[in-house]
Amino acid sequence: MNAALAPTPPETRLPPAKRKVRIATASLAGCFGCHMSFADIDLRLLQLAQWVEFDRSPLTDLKTVHPCDIALIEGGVCNAENVEVLRAFRRAATILVAVGACAINGGLPAQRNSHDVAKLLTHVFERDRNLAHGSHVPNDPELPLLLAHVHPIHEIVRVDYFLPGCPPTAEVIWKALTELLAGELPSLPYPIIRYD
Ligand code: SF4
Repeated sequence: MNAALAPTPPETRLPPAKRKVRIATASLAGCFGCHMSFADIDLRLLQLAQWVEFDRSPLTDLKTVHPCDIALIEGGVCNAENVEVLRAFRRAATILVAVGACAINGGLPAQRNSHDVAKLLTHVFERDRNLAHGSHVPNDPELPLLLAHVHPIHEIVRVDYFLPGCPPTAEVIWKALTELLAGELPSLPYPIIRYD
């Protein structure tokens, strides 16, 4: 493509930050792969730091979410704590983004959906022949209750944008994020997205 006709990268359209955009991120029933993909934007994280600050996130280890501009949610919803966390993020965030296959359609964790949860737990914690004698299904009140099925996050809260992929690539995350920061709708041309 003629360089003069090439689209301007979204990050170069960003105005100087008057107020840092506050971003929160969460991993529900996921593997942290989507967060790893976010970290894969590498040195651009330094650029990002000019425009954003982080609220609750594995990056900050804050335990509660506060009013913020953008929430990035990885993972499906598999237990009562996931529901509580997701609803708190939805209440706190102006824009909520489903990041990756698990958040969008349940992904790998949803493979348990064709099985009965009680039978699965009994099999794993009591029937496996390699278990110690007297093993039983954990029942501590601190443990979040499992839901019968793993749900995509749009079944629990309203979702504003979806970033497909397992995980979405760092390029997709960077493009969507910088477009949101520039006050634009994220545009993800087909060649840069993937559904695996
Ligand atoms: Fe992990 Fe893929 Fe799910 Fe992201 S979408 S949490 S990378 S399994």
